[in-house]
Amino acid sequence: MNFEKEYRVRSDDKISLKSRDTKTKGPFDDKEDAQAATAENVRTIQDLQYRMFVEAKQSLLIVLQAPDAAGKDGLIRKVLGRMNPQGCRTHPFKVPSSEERAHDFLWRIHKCTPPQGKVSIFNRSHYEDVLVVRVENLVPKSVWRERYEMINAFEHSLVANGTRILKFYLHISPEEQLERFRKRLDNPAKHWKLNAGDYEARRQWGAYQQAYEDAFQKCSPKHAPWYIIPADHKWYRDAAVSSIVAETLKDMDPQFPPVDVDLDQIRKLYQQAKDQEQSDD
Ligand code: ADP
Repeated sequence: MNFEKEYRVRSDDKISLKSRDTKTKGPFDDKEDAQAATAENVRTIQDLQYRMFVEAKQSLLIVLQAPDAAGKDGLIRKVLGRMNPQGCRTHPFKVPSSEERAHDFLWRIHKCTPPQGKVSIFNRSHYEDVLVVRVENLVPKSVWRERYEMINAFEHSLVANGTRILKFYLHISPEEQLERFRKRLDNPAKHWKLNAGDYEARRQWGAYQQAYEDAFQKCSPKHAPWYIIPADHKWYRDAAVSSIVAETLKDMDPQFPPVDVDLDQIRKLYQQAKDQEQSDD
């Protein structure tokens, strides 16, 4: 199955989240089948990320957005966080600090975009400024309405500078979210995750879904698409996202730089060092 084609939002798509499946098993027989595919994808990602790091010409930005408990953290822990930390950083975006609020909304974001050779993972992102900010009326409509175009221009400038952008929305059903909230309550090791605000956001489910749909429709140019990933099954989410990241890295086709040393000379130096080592024994 081609996950990239299946879940990519096209710029002229009319999105209705409600009518999109959250529970599919896709091509997989069961959980184990999907986990084997994920493991294979992770190996591909690791290999190609290493090449990209050494090549140091292109970069990759992965944006994650989702309702609470949809699995951003799990996806990072089990899949994306398996990349070499020398070339990959995760950036969580929380309620802006007073310093961040004193700047334009992209200021804190721009600082975290990946330099050549590196990967940045955004756990939440600049899209919060057209999601929570819109739903909670944190700024007037006249302000957030302008932001879609600003986001498109910003992302375009990153792409023009050699950054590939993948944006994933983890699509869970309200029933599955409630079930995960229950599991958190039942598990003392997860009590630190409990937050009354999650229930507040849940009451606004419809308004959030509408804000997401608008963002997907307005901000899905070909060079920076959104992918809407069915996420009720964690193993399906991991398999689908890892497949899209692996395929994207293959398409980026990073190359080891050409060898600019004299290999014969290095072999001679090696031989001399080895002879020296033996005569010292
Ligand atoms: P997470 O849910 O990502 O694990 P938190 O529980 O700390 O992390 O939640 C972060 C909170 O920060 C979310 O409620 C999110 O809506 C909020 N947030 C992020 N960016 C902004 C923003 N630009 N303006 C207002 N709130 C924001």
